[in-house]
Amino acid sequence: MSPAEPTVEMHPQRWGDPAAAAELPESARGLVELAFGLQDRPAVTGAVPPASALDEALLDALRETLGAEHVLTDDATRTLRTRGKSTPDLLRARAGDLADAPDAVVRPMGHAEVVAVLAWASEHRVAVVPFGGGTCVTGGLAARREGFAGLVSLDLVRMKRLLAVDEVSMTATLEPGLRGPEAEALLAEHGLVLGHYPQSYLHASIGGFAATRSSGQSSAGYGRFDAMVVGLTAATPTGSLDLGSSPANAAGPDLRQLLLGSEGAFGVITSVTVRVRRLPEVTTYEGWRWPSFDAGSDAMRTLAQAGVLPTVIRLSDESETAINLADPSSIGGAEDPGCLMITGYEGTVSQVSARQAAVTAVLSDLGGTALGTEPGEKWVHGRFGAPYLRDSLLDHGVLVETLETATFWSNRERLYAEVKAALQSTLGEGTLVLCHVSHVYETGCSLYFTVAARQAEDPIAQWQVAKAAASDAMIAAGATITHHHAVGTDHTPWFAQEIGDVGVRILRAVKAELDPAGILNPGVLIP
Ligand SMILES: Cc1cc2nc3c(=O)[nH]c(=O)nc-3n(C[C@H](O)[C@H](O)[C@H](O)COP(=O)(O)OP(=O)(O)OC[C@H]3O[C@@H](n4cnc5c(N)ncnc54)[C@H](O)[C@@H]3O)c2cc1C
Repeated sequence: MSPAEPTVEMHPQRWGDPAAAAELPESARGLVELAFGLQDRPAVTGAVPPASALDEALLDALRETLGAEHVLTDDATRTLRTRGKSTPDLLRARAGDLADAPDAVVRPMGHAEVVAVLAWASEHRVAVVPFGGGTCVTGGLAARREGFAGLVSLDLVRMKRLLAVDEVSMTATLEPGLRGPEAEALLAEHGLVLGHYPQSYLHASIGGFAATRSSGQSSAGYGRFDAMVVGLTAATPTGSLDLGSSPANAAGPDLRQLLLGSEGAFGVITSVTVRVRRLPEVTTYEGWRWPSFDAGSDAMRTLAQAGVLPTVIRLSDESETAINLADPSSIGGAEDPGCLMITGYEGTVSQVSARQAAVTAVLSDLGGTALGTEPGEKWVHGRFGAPYLRDSLLDHGVLVETLETATFWSNRERLYAEVKAALQSTLGEGTLVLCHVSHVYETGCSLYFTVAARQAEDPIAQWQVAKAAASDAMIAAGATITHHHAVGTDHTPWFAQEIGDVGVRILRAVKAELDPAGILNPGVLIP
């Protein structure tokens, strides 16, 4: 895929490439029927967004700057920029609810045009929602429009260049609109790799990764996205920022961190300079079986604290292992499938063999059973496909959603038990609650939960009750409300509890300074 090709637009009511939308596989139908009953929940077709509230004369001023073809008000374009891809977002889209559609979609090319859009919006009190890949799952693209003349989606899709490569320092400067594979394709031409592969990789953007402090499946080897960023530029309504002139410094608080994770509420990230690596010579993935989630988690902690992590490491709990394996007996007998761990290694031949040997020694010592490369290869080949299954389950009346959190190792068991109990008790009998350890650190890990339940009459309200209970459980357990999905609009009440009053006041003060008219993503991030 080359950035010269148009970006594939996702289906407005489903995940991903419309050409890849699939029916529920025949092999899964029986199981789903048994567990949840099959209901027919077809999506409403033909819905159109409300008429644009923005005055044409106002938009004409912007057309003079960006070109008429980059200020769009047609229904189809506005529909495609409505909300993100959480399950409630999809349920609303499937119900034909386009109330959050922007009044216009504007497509600036380059930092100066972004600055011009923000000046126009501040002057006319128009809310601005920066739009990267549109894969947000926390309501970060559903800004509040009350009190504004209108709302525009600031689509970064035209900003898709690799601006600079420094092969001596091993950094690259990328524009924000590049989707994951587009960025990797450009870097690969230089023999380089970024190594950021969230499950949303195929459609999410570089700017979105930075704005949400995303974490990819290879974070144990390549690090979280915020750890990869060495510099960035951002346009704010009160001026531009160009941050990161050295690999490290002691020049006061690190202002890059103020923009990383700012979710479009402080400014628009117009480029990021990231640390890159040489393309790996070898990639290999394998599976390990653990007798229990606790035993596998303890093994992950041992590896992290010994400093011998593979590039990829993830561990499914007993329920997730049993569900995800088409044939649970393949790793330990249908009665007791144990827990599946995936490990992966990327790098030069010698790096991979040394690291694999070190990890294998530790895991074998701790009681893990090596399963060879088959489970690892199966995972790596299917890893971007799961979101399509969510759509086919929604088609049949199954509520499927995910949430995630993180805590220190000493608190892992409590967090796991309490979030699971909150989900189970609110969603009721028959609900499946699956979990895996998705990212690990020396001091702790993140837990990623997937829920499947029979849809109630109002599945959005059904999920909101469960999500609130799980979020309360996270905060009560002293964990974070989000390890990598960010805050958006959905998490603000719990985020406020997590950072406390002073933290909230700091964020509001920064917002007031950078965005005095409050036009940037109103209601997102700042409690
Ligand atoms: C199926 C699925 C799987 C996912 N898996 C992962 C995962 O493994 N790891 C992970 O971390 N996340 C994951 N996510 C969440 C999501 O993909 C990430 O948050 C991602 O970083 C969002 O990038 P995006 O380009 O799609 O941003 P968008 O959804 O377009 O925007 C996200 C937020 O950032 C703001 N924003 C976007 N671009 C900019 C910019 N240039 N400047 C300022 N603000 C901006 C938006 O206004 C919005 O508030 C997943 C989501 C889905 C639907």
